[in-house]
Amino acid sequence: MLEGSQSHAQLTAWLEQGRVLFLLIHLLGVAGFAYIVARRLIPLFRAERDLRFDQPLARLHKALKFWLGQWKHPRYPTAGTLHILFFAGFILLAMRAFTVLIVGVSPAFVMPGLSGEAGRVYEVITDYAATVVFFCMVIAIVRRLVFKPARYEVPAKFGKAHKADAVFLLALIAILMVADSLFEAAKAAGQAQAGQPVAFAAVLSLPWLLTIALTSTSLPTIGGFYFAGYLLHEVTFYFLLCYRPFGIQFHVETSLFNVYFGRLNKGTLKPVKWGVRDEQLDQVKSFGVKTFEDFTWKHMLDFYSCADCGRCSDNCPANAVGRPLSPRFLTIKARDYAFQHYPMFGKPGNGQALIGSIYSEDEIWSCTTCGACEEECPLLVEYIDKIVDLRRGMVDDGNVPQSLQKPLKALESRGNPYGKMEKKKADWANGKEFQQVCRVKTLDHKNGADTLYFVDSITAYDDRMQSIGRATAKILDHLGENFGILGAAEKDSGHEVRRFGEETLFMALRDHNTEAIQASGVTRIVTADPHAYNALKHDYRDMPPVEHISQVLAREVKSGKLKFNPVENDGKVYTYHDPCYLGRHNQIYDDPRAVLDSIPGLKRVEMKRSRDRSFCCGGGGLMLFYEPKEEQRIGVKRVQMAADAGANVIVTACPFCMVNIEDAIKVAGLEGKMTAIDLAELADQQIALLALKADGVPEIQQECVTRR
Ligand code: SF4
Ligand code: SF4
Repeated sequence: MLEGSQSHAQLTAWLEQGRVLFLLIHLLGVAGFAYIVARRLIPLFRAERDLRFDQPLARLHKALKFWLGQWKHPRYPTAGTLHILFFAGFILLAMRAFTVLIVGVSPAFVMPGLSGEAGRVYEVITDYAATVVFFCMVIAIVRRLVFKPARYEVPAKFGKAHKADAVFLLALIAILMVADSLFEAAKAAGQAQAGQPVAFAAVLSLPWLLTIALTSTSLPTIGGFYFAGYLLHEVTFYFLLCYRPFGIQFHVETSLFNVYFGRLNKGTLKPVKWGVRDEQLDQVKSFGVKTFEDFTWKHMLDFYSCADCGRCSDNCPANAVGRPLSPRFLTIKARDYAFQHYPMFGKPGNGQALIGSIYSEDEIWSCTTCGACEEECPLLVEYIDKIVDLRRGMVDDGNVPQSLQKPLKALESRGNPYGKMEKKKADWANGKEFQQVCRVKTLDHKNGADTLYFVDSITAYDDRMQSIGRATAKILDHLGENFGILGAAEKDSGHEVRRFGEETLFMALRDHNTEAIQASGVTRIVTADPHAYNALKHDYRDMPPVEHISQVLAREVKSGKLKFNPVENDGKVYTYHDPCYLGRHNQIYDDPRAVLDSIPGLKRVEMKRSRDRSFCCGGGGLMLFYEPKEEQRIGVKRVQMAADAGANVIVTACPFCMVNIEDAIKVAGLEGKMTAIDLAELADQQIALLALKADGVPEIQQECVTRR
């Protein structure tokens, strides 16, 4: 900008005086950063394998959406907007920062492509970017220190807060912006001193304000500020670079990689060991995570990448009811462990057991595997795989909670957690009254069908849930499906068993069911249980296409084949509770709502926490058999959310949710004021048969009658 002018020559001369010092700081900064990162990478090289190098285009898309596009940040409007602003500022300032660094050792340097007009435009943009980043930092510091959002606070049971670290790093970035602006301003002030027009016009920006402040001072003073601005910028830049890997801001370096290598498929679980086939598992000496080094390198990268924003725990149902689990602290404790046991100097690692040292058993059993934490995390930190791996480790050591030992044994011997006889599996369909309206055939070598209705244990054996089974069968029958069940040949899908950490038992259940399903010759599977749906879809292999009954209903409503009678207008207000394994894990949000909205006269309201922010009922991960210490039942909290939304009927589409919600209605003292019904039950109740009137126009019969 001032090339050739006297003032520029003088400013350049002042900068040149420090060239050796600047070069030294560069070398020290780069070498220090390289050393620190190399040390931080040691545990990743000692970690378990994780195959994340596939599907580069899908991964690139993820990086563009979630890292560059900051997709999840607007979910928290204030903090999200701040983050988007300063992230954009950083991206814009990156090239300027490198240019400034090089100018210290080569004062005439101009970044290729940024000479002339383009350079001037870039300078104006970056002046505003530096200003925005500065003010974002000030606001962020004030928020942390004065407004103290509840999710940043650290209950004593989870460990120590890193507030001072967070504030210090925010302050350093603010100082970096001031240094950068001072350097720019001194250059412009020197230009003004020489009587030349000041080229940039980023009015009201930080450099603009500082330029006004400096213009009336002498050229030597301006030169002093020019030198000081540069030195402060360089020292702060390298200090930040080398200090970040010691705290929560390491995510600045690691987040791009963490997002790129993030999990691509929801609803899935990692194998016991990547690259080890099921048949080879009996050669594996130890299952799951027992020591820090048993985590995969990606999970360690997660630990480094957490920004400590607290959004995961803010959405965690276990944390909300005071269970001893906060996903944020699963990460923070592991990162603190890594920093402590993999120090910058000395011998790294000690292979200490994690359970009993940094994690408690209850903490790990408290998770319902609902996925709310993962859904919320802006940096795509994963939790379920880690928690399941920690459970696998405990199960491998025979460390299983007392209340879960019985259902596990029953699953092993009888194929269901209740210990009921296999031959009773189809009892729900064998009642005389039910058989008069709907006959459900059991598939075998004589009786084939196109569609398998996979019932799963809870619907088959729980007296209350059997009604969901009958409703589902009647719907399929009404739709004219050629369907059947496996009956005694169907064992538990193993979905919860797997998430509990009992992989070998899961494999036995899966293999048994796979064989039975394949032998039945069906070309399609329907289920009303989202856990079975998720297992068949993601945990099993070589299965025919599987659908949840809500998808079937929505499709038939859309095609016009299915019509519903109006609901009685008796002051009922419905709300839909998204089951975690239908919604968050499989993104089926619209179909159940479309079915409800097609029922004439049905008034539906949304709960505050719905769709991908749905609040778990508390039933996942064998939680029906295990109750950790908690201040309140998760289901009770959910029922209160429904009441707050003004609903008096909770519709769900999962038998596990039904157990918890009906129970919670009683515990919350809302019996008589609130009821719960499954979507299949409601649809079956409201189904209307289309009959052709004399003029050929379909009319809806007012009676609910099934075809047989
Ligand atoms: S999966 Fe659900 S219960 Fe488990 S840690 Fe995450 S939010 Fe909490
Ligand atoms: S894991 Fe994600 S959501 Fe949780 S505190 Fe860390 S960055 Fe925030």
